[in-house]
Amino acid sequence: MQVGNYGQYPSLNQIREPLDDGSSARSKRGERLIQAFRANADFLNREWLLLTLETPIADLSKHGIPRLGKKTAENLAAEIAAINAHPDPQHSTVEDLLHYLPMRYEDRSRLTRVDGLIDGLSASVEVTVRIGGVLPFKGGRLKLFEMFATDGQGQIRAFWWNQIYLNRVFQRGTRVILFGQWKLNRYKGIFEVENPDYEVLGDEDEDPETSAIHTARRVPVYRKLGDLRTRPLRGIFHHLLQKLAGDIPELLPSVMLSRCDLISRQKALQSIHFPSDDATVEDYNEVRSPAHRRLIFEELFWLALALGLRRRERLREPKGEMIEIDDRIREVVRSILPFALTDAQKRVLREIISDMRGDEPMNRLLQGDVGSGKTIVAIQAMVVAVENGYQTALMAPTEILAEQHFRNIRRIVSSRPYRVELLTGSMKIREKRLVREALRAGEIDIIIGTHALIQESIEFGRLGLVVIDEQHRFGVLQRAQLRRQGFNPDVLVMTATPIPRSLAMTVYGDLEVSVIDQLPPGRTPVRTHVRGDDRREQIYEFIRTQLVSGRQAYVVYPIIEESEKLDLRNATEMYDHLQREVFPEFRLGILHGRMKPLEKEEVMTAFAAHQIDLLVATTVIEVGIDVPNSTVMLIEHAERFGLSQLHQLRGRVGRGAAESFCILLAQYAKTKEARARLSIMEETNDGFLIAEKDLEIRGPGEVMGTRQSGVPTFRLANLIRDQRLLELARREAETQLVELALTRETELMIRHVRKMPRYGLAEIG
Ligand code: ADP
Ligand code: MG
Repeated sequence: MQVGNYGQYPSLNQIREPLDDGSSARSKRGERLIQAFRANADFLNREWLLLTLETPIADLSKHGIPRLGKKTAENLAAEIAAINAHPDPQHSTVEDLLHYLPMRYEDRSRLTRVDGLIDGLSASVEVTVRIGGVLPFKGGRLKLFEMFATDGQGQIRAFWWNQIYLNRVFQRGTRVILFGQWKLNRYKGIFEVENPDYEVLGDEDEDPETSAIHTARRVPVYRKLGDLRTRPLRGIFHHLLQKLAGDIPELLPSVMLSRCDLISRQKALQSIHFPSDDATVEDYNEVRSPAHRRLIFEELFWLALALGLRRRERLREPKGEMIEIDDRIREVVRSILPFALTDAQKRVLREIISDMRGDEPMNRLLQGDVGSGKTIVAIQAMVVAVENGYQTALMAPTEILAEQHFRNIRRIVSSRPYRVELLTGSMKIREKRLVREALRAGEIDIIIGTHALIQESIEFGRLGLVVIDEQHRFGVLQRAQLRRQGFNPDVLVMTATPIPRSLAMTVYGDLEVSVIDQLPPGRTPVRTHVRGDDRREQIYEFIRTQLVSGRQAYVVYPIIEESEKLDLRNATEMYDHLQREVFPEFRLGILHGRMKPLEKEEVMTAFAAHQIDLLVATTVIEVGIDVPNSTVMLIEHAERFGLSQLHQLRGRVGRGAAESFCILLAQYAKTKEARARLSIMEETNDGFLIAEKDLEIRGPGEVMGTRQSGVPTFRLANLIRDQRLLELARREAETQLVELALTRETELMIRHVRKMPRYGLAEIG
């Protein structure tokens, strides 16, 4: 069996020998050559000699690639670094560059001719410019560049708005490929195209080899990268791949490739940029070519392997001390309950307790739609831990939420002799110090804080359970933190972002999942309406009737200051306006992220105590806030929010027995899609369904808030589209970790995945 080449050998093509199975291996002589070469490499500047996937992009200028000088290479490195969110362009490698994929492919072996155009057809046409010029419109405020061109058979017209520089690009006689949707102008009897993509052909100083890659074949079309348009990029990729030929190591064992019907990495990277002549362009454009399949599989495979490793590493370390539960503790847990649990809550609590009693540390995700009652379940688990003599910590994403939990928990456990404390960044240094000391001494039973709680250098006396609220994160990084402090506690992560099962499996590959799929009794579903600005007065009237009958309301804005987005209504401005001109007889409050924590806390407390009738807020109120008397949620610029976020916001109302309303104000004149999207909110209150839709529309990165969620961003994979490949990758990763666990091959794979920063495995190593 041939094992993938993991090293960074200067593999030299000419010293490979073909084997019977069609692959190749180095000959003895080749190995000796390489060794001699490596010995010398210390004396030589390696970068001059070796071009590998690991070569920094910035060094590419040393490799004699036409039109890739120092400046261009540095710019490229910076652009790619920005795409991959690397802080340091030096970290951008040729491999990263090769993952800058074409946005589409054109079959230029079959260019459409002008006399073959059809009204409405999207096609590429190669033409020669005859005449072009700029026309002013609307008294000169708009400028149109138009040109007429011909392919010898027929004439076309192409035009662009406000791009007068095109005057210089298109001279008489310039040969160009135009791509766009062609429309027949019936008056003039000519095909026209508006704002087409274009590519000027036949640059004189271009060598014939390079110029041949741009036409008469299947060509990749790249999105502009910095200053580089598709044509120079295509040239760079072409030369780069030529120089790399043979030096793109295979990372997966050949048996896996054949079992999963995958092409080699070498071939995949080559053909994803330059599809071969017999390739189907549609397959490439629809991301289902063999090249795409291979690269997507690989990406998902490493993820699956990383997740599998994480789970194994967590289970390897037992907790040490065990949680017990007897009748006394059962009675205590029951006694603190302010209401009867729903069946779903009971089931989930059982799952949690059973984890806690086991000797492996719990790593459980508790999912439940907004308002499903996750908090009380978590509190019960915390009580079990405390009754066993452990300390427990609850972490919330914002101070507002931490404070709400603090008030709530203190009230619920008030009959027990527990010490409950709050620790937030805005507390005085002296107060914080006192809390820390008490924590270290083991005097505090329940500590509530923001997520920063464990990041700071906090020491616990006997930490047994950590609850992380409203965060969809692997939870692993936090665990790594805790481990460094010498704990391996039970961890319960709670989220109201309903993650479709398919996604949860991957995203939380190392978490067990519990779901509360039932709302507490007596809730009436929130009524949702999408409205345009023309209904504003009516909406205000409606809010007034609710406020008069003693209810409370929220008005939510996307951002707080009119910096860039001038068309957005400013929360503070609107607050003034609403208070003075619309609701002068009511008490209004404002809440936004720029306020000091203490101010926020005051406003929240006042709203919860009904000293404020209407709260104008930004999305800081998004998660967790629980004021059952509020019955109206008005969201301005609803079209700017994702569906899952709207659902979260809507979840702030409908928490009591009274009927509640969510009004989505949208400027849906803007797009039909926005209207269609928002109407999903009118149709359903089911968070899971909404998340599925959101996922279809926006992709996982957006839905999960990639950066915060710890979900690695994918370069190619799409968890919805590629579910079957995901399954396959998971199976293969499991095989590798179970059946082939002790092989050298697996060892090399593990070493490889540990080096990939995207999977964060270094953190727990
Ligand atoms: P979330 O799951 O969104 O965090 P919460 O835990 O804040 O929801 O619960 C929402 C509201 O429902 C709270 O006011 C809580 O007290 C109440 N609640 C939770 N469980 C029940 C129940 N079984 N019966 C009645 N009310 C409940
Ligand atoms: Mg909550």
